Amino acid sequence: MTTTQRNVSEQQARQVAEAARESEWRKPSFGKELFLGRFRLDLIYPWPAEQPRPDADEFLRKLDTFARTEIDGARIERDARIPDEVFQGLARLGAFGMKIDKEYGGLGLTNLHYCRALTLVGSANAAIGALLSAHQSIGVPQPLKIFGSPEQKKAFLPRLAAGEVSAFLLTEPDVGSDPARLGTVAEPVEGGYRLNGVKLWATNGTVATLLVVMARVPEKGITAFVVEGDAEGITVERRNEFLGLRGLENSVTRFHDVFVPEANVIGGLGKGLKIALTTLNTGRLSLPAMCVSAGKRSLAIAREWSADRVQWGRAVGKHEAVAKKIAFIAATTYAMESTLDLCCMIADDDRNDIRIEAALVKLFASEMAWQVADELIQIRGGRGYEKSESLVARGERPAEVEQMLRDLRINRIFEGSTEIMHLLIAREAVDAHLSVAGDIIDPEAGFGRKAKAGGRAGLFYGRWLPTLVVGQGQNPGGTPAMVHSPRTCASSSGRPAGWPGRRSTRWPAGAARWSASRASWAGWWTSGRSCSR
Ligand SMILES: Cc1cc2nc3c(=O)[nH]c(=O)nc-3n(C[C@H](O)[C@H](O)[C@H](O)COP(=O)(O)OP(=O)(O)OC[C@H]3O[C@@H](n4cnc5c(N)ncnc54)[C@H](O)[C@@H]3O)c2cc1C
Repeated sequence: MTTTQRNVSEQQARQVAEAARESEWRKPSFGKELFLGRFRLDLIYPWPAEQPRPDADEFLRKLDTFARTEIDGARIERDARIPDEVFQGLARLGAFGMKIDKEYGGLGLTNLHYCRALTLVGSANAAIGALLSAHQSIGVPQPLKIFGSPEQKKAFLPRLAAGEVSAFLLTEPDVGSDPARLGTVAEPVEGGYRLNGVKLWATNGTVATLLVVMARVPEKGITAFVVEGDAEGITVERRNEFLGLRGLENSVTRFHDVFVPEANVIGGLGKGLKIALTTLNTGRLSLPAMCVSAGKRSLAIAREWSADRVQWGRAVGKHEAVAKKIAFIAATTYAMESTLDLCCMIADDDRNDIRIEAALVKLFASEMAWQVADELIQIRGGRGYEKSESLVARGERPAEVEQMLRDLRINRIFEGSTEIMHLLIAREAVDAHLSVAGDIIDPEAGFGRKAKAGGRAGLFYGRWLPTLVVGQGQNPGGTPAMVHSPRTCASSSGRPAGWPGRRSTRWPAGAARWSASRASWAGWWTSGRSCSR
């Protein structure tokens, strides 16, 4: 039984989304300040220092070896299935507990190490990255970490850290970007709730033993529940197939009179969407991590191929048009990884609100990785359009280029589509203006509210507008952090202090040139623009 709210108006949809957003800004936000015309470089530069974590580094080394030796990406693509031994191997390594605190048996990785891990496994096969990220970026571990009770954490997290898989079930046949239409109902009954409804496209839904299910509790609103995957009344009706990510275990799941104990409500009745949105603040960083994998792999393939393939008397990489494409792939991958690393580090440092930055990084990486894969196909010519298996069958070296394009396409749709990211970023960006002057344009607000808003707006804009004309933003070289902080001077290595070191993930041979160019660029930046002053 589904009871989709079919008659939800645009205004009601907005109200639901508005009620779900975090309305407070408890910490400063670089992104928010930018939209107010204030370039608060001191909030992100120097980069926060990376905390030494030898255990995490050791885990990444093991995971890298596992990905190189035990994961056969071509087999997953051919069979449309992740082999059991890969599941088991990942579980033995602790990959299902990367984001779970050590006290519950997990690895307690920082966002930075977690995203590096996803980049590593994603370079072997994107469906494995999706499996791990759906499990712990949006599945049970993250909402419980932020909103779970001590009892819930004790009951569920050790199971997940040991290798049980979880899934997140929000989407329904009539409910995509607009959760106000949610039709799955959780009716109060003695000792708990009775769930009825159908959930669509649940990643890991066919294999998960624990589910986060979003359902509407009458009079209370959308609520998040932890549900046992084998509870009576749950049917996995089918495994879905997609353009890419062929190894994905994605389900249509039906709930028919499923009993869920009261103790399994996460974070309180009616808090479901807030939980989902807050979880996604850092959760959506896993997508850029996968895009970085694709960018690095694309660069490796592009460099190798364009040096080998000779047309019109020279290697195709020597033709300017192709060289430009390789430069684009290199620069874009570098930008995706740098923005991701920075966002992870400021999230780990916990001094800034990163909701705008994480959305920007997700939007940027998902759009640009798609273009990277498209340019890679162009560089490979006809071979870019040909399946890896077909290349092998003809006796050529395989390169999973067309697969990469197919695998990447979904990143522009899930965990907030590009269009929804635009809305989210715009909403957060104008928050300061809406909170002082929003009532003036709100058709629901009466004269009294509009008059008060007018007063607030007068005070705010009287102070704010002049800063746009004569403020520090008019002097790009005059940002306090750059001019006065001794920490911005280049260190003996040529990098500014606090500049992050090289990363251990898969760089193609020769890509070390980047680190040199980054250091010298940084040196120019600091010496020319701040240290010499
Ligand atoms: C492979 C895959 C895995 C998934 N995994 C999960 C999962 O694990 N759990 C889960 O709950 N869901 C999952 N989803 C669902 C996914 O999150 C949704 O597809 C996504 O939220 C978009 O919803 P929709 O597809 O219904 O598109 P719709 O919401 O119907 O939107 C259609 C188009 O309209 C645009 N649009 C909608 N509203 C607006 C607006 N207000 N302004 C501008 N443009 C708008 C959208 O951006 C899109 O381009 C998955 C989907 C896929 C394909």
